[in-house]
Amino acid sequence: MIDIKNFGKAYGDFIAVENLSLKIEKGELFGFIGPNGAGKSTTIRFLATLLRATHGTATVNGHSVVEDPIAVRRSIGYMPDMFGVYDGMRVWEFLDFFSVAYEVPRANRKAIIGDVLELLDLTHKRDDYVNGLSRGMKQRLCLAKTLVHDPPVLILDEPASGLDPRARLEVKALLKELRSMGKTILISSHILTELADVCTSIGIIERGKLLLHGPIDKVYRKIQSNKQLEVRFATAPEAGVSLLRSDPLVKNLQAVGRRAVFEYHGDDAAAQRLLRSLMAPEIGLVSFADKEPTLEDVFMMVTKGLVT
Ligand code: ADP
Repeated sequence: MIDIKNFGKAYGDFIAVENLSLKIEKGELFGFIGPNGAGKSTTIRFLATLLRATHGTATVNGHSVVEDPIAVRRSIGYMPDMFGVYDGMRVWEFLDFFSVAYEVPRANRKAIIGDVLELLDLTHKRDDYVNGLSRGMKQRLCLAKTLVHDPPVLILDEPASGLDPRARLEVKALLKELRSMGKTILISSHILTELADVCTSIGIIERGKLLLHGPIDKVYRKIQSNKQLEVRFATAPEAGVSLLRSDPLVKNLQAVGRRAVFEYHGDDAAAQRLLRSLMAPEIGLVSFADKEPTLEDVFMMVTKGLVT
């Protein structure tokens, strides 16, 4: 559905994105993850036909981004990372404006606007001014406008950024619903864990390079094979830490205060034995858990070549 080949973008001497190739199949919910400045928006803007590549090509829904941008625009709903300013415009007018821009037939507009307002739970805000909406509602409205022409592909640039946890959950639920409606979705984020439970596949980009991509379970399995454990002690950690250091399966141990984090190179049975020995009363163990990988951990592993 989305096929990027050798995309590169330079601003003067600065290379923002380097030789990026990526395929996203129909029906996928692809999470495009990387820190601020990694090159996500640059790639997304190229796909949305808003930016000229230094080199490379891409097709969206079978249309070339470079040669047939109009067909691409009809195929996508694009949500930029900035909302923009819409002074004096009401919610329904905002959606009507985009319906006209996308050449939705006049006879269908009212019903479509009603439907997307319903889907995004904004019906009660129909006549409110856009500028008076909360950030979460603005994000939902922006998502609503990507749907008015019923495109098969959605390209969403950081739709959950700056939202409170409840609004973020709502965005996730919506993404799932849109996927169940058959949309192919590319969504960017600078937070790995934010997307992990909704995406079917992810790509990790750093400093303009796509470091890793694939189905989420495969990527997580790779990351998890370098399993990290975290333990906490109720009292002074010395006894526990020295027990951990004596275990040859424990690597790269870092002890901070009453906490210790380490890579564990054993299987579940070995981890169980380790847990049992840590449960001796003099060690004062209060917690023993898998440490959820953070984006930083993934970057460390990827850049150290531990995961490819
Ligand atoms: P992300 O979306 O991952 O935060 P961007 O794609 O916006 O990253 O930016 C990638 C890099 O390109 C950043 O270092 C940014 O400063 C730079 N960049 C983006 N747009 C321009 C521009 N118009 N001129 C010069 N540099 C730019």
